[in-house]
Amino acid sequence: MPFTSLGLSPSLQKALDDAHYKKPYPIQKEAIPAILNRKDVLGIAKTGSGKTASYVLPILMNLQSNTAIKNRHVNVLVLVPTRELAMQVGEVFQSFGSKLPQRIKTLSVFGGVSINPQMMAMQNVNVLIATPGRLLELVDKNAVHLNSIETLVLDEADKMLNLGFKEEVDRIINLLPKKRQNLLFSATLNEDVNKVEQVLLHNPSVIKIAVENDNIDLINQLGYFVKEGNKGPLLRYLIKHNNLQQVLVFTASSYKADNVANKLRKNGIDASAIHGKKSQGNRKETLRKFKSGELNILVATDLLARGIDIAFLPHVINYELPRSPKDYVHRIGRTGRAENPGEAISFITPEDKHHFKIIQKKMGKAVTMIDSENIDFNSY
Ligand code: AMP
Repeated sequence: MPFTSLGLSPSLQKALDDAHYKKPYPIQKEAIPAILNRKDVLGIAKTGSGKTASYVLPILMNLQSNTAIKNRHVNVLVLVPTRELAMQVGEVFQSFGSKLPQRIKTLSVFGGVSINPQMMAMQNVNVLIATPGRLLELVDKNAVHLNSIETLVLDEADKMLNLGFKEEVDRIINLLPKKRQNLLFSATLNEDVNKVEQVLLHNPSVIKIAVENDNIDLINQLGYFVKEGNKGPLLRYLIKHNNLQQVLVFTASSYKADNVANKLRKNGIDASAIHGKKSQGNRKETLRKFKSGELNILVATDLLARGIDIAFLPHVINYELPRSPKDYVHRIGRTGRAENPGEAISFITPEDKHHFKIIQKKMGKAVTMIDSENIDFNSY
């Protein structure tokens, strides 16, 4: 089925061909026609399902017929929980939008960087992608007006509400015109999302795509029983012995992420850490290098466990387990996405055994366990 049969224009179809999108993913089949018809949509779909394009494409189409905006007013507002996601969504708008006959200006704004360039860039913006805090700062400085918004997107709504953005999001919603299109995307349908849905959406098309564990079967999961003190050597062994390329290693804290990355580098393995304590510039550059394949090993905290799309990520290693089984599924969901098989390895100390059993039970899948006692770490 071509995208044009969903109502998208030939120029967008051409952009999709260039991006090697051969056919619409399930969420796109349902969301694109509904959004083109200016309906409200509730999409229950996780990252990896193609949800970004499912709203970016029809929004771009709708903007083609209506782009008259007053200065510092925007047509479309996309709210996202993290800077990384703001940049990533901005890139998708830009890459498809740049192929259209009518120019669409997209801007991503987020905290942690100077506000002045963002204020200056706010002229004639059609699509604004923002984290809530920075958006409110810009509103308070009169750099942007939200009373012409035609479409609001809340991406990763479950996470935004979880992270305590609720007050900010409420304030933003109060600044929008009453009559508008609302699109809400969430990986899960929890109580917070339900509440927001009831306030926000009018007679929505409800699209449920991925149940949390949908792509779990695509992922080859392994666990290694290991003593705490042997985790470093085991990690080096796995990377070197199996010549692993593009590995995302998860730790529980920023301190540990730095520590693991430093030790890998000391042992001649190219690795960097990414976490909330790094500067925005550093995070952006590290992520760019990892995505492009320039950097082989990225050690991260759960900052990266959701929302960030890394094409063809073959290996995820849980150096330390996350506390919640949900976060485990999100972490390993970095791999085995968009129909690419992947491998997820977890390091299990004696203290972790019970917790890992609970994770497997919640996930509904048993993980093959290997004892690292017999591995000769000496040469690694
Ligand atoms: P998302 O769920 O938006 O993070 O998208 C997951 C990945 O799937 C991204 O790398 C997209 O570029 C890719 N993608 C989305 N839709 C399609 C499609 N119809 N065909 C091929 N790749 C797609």
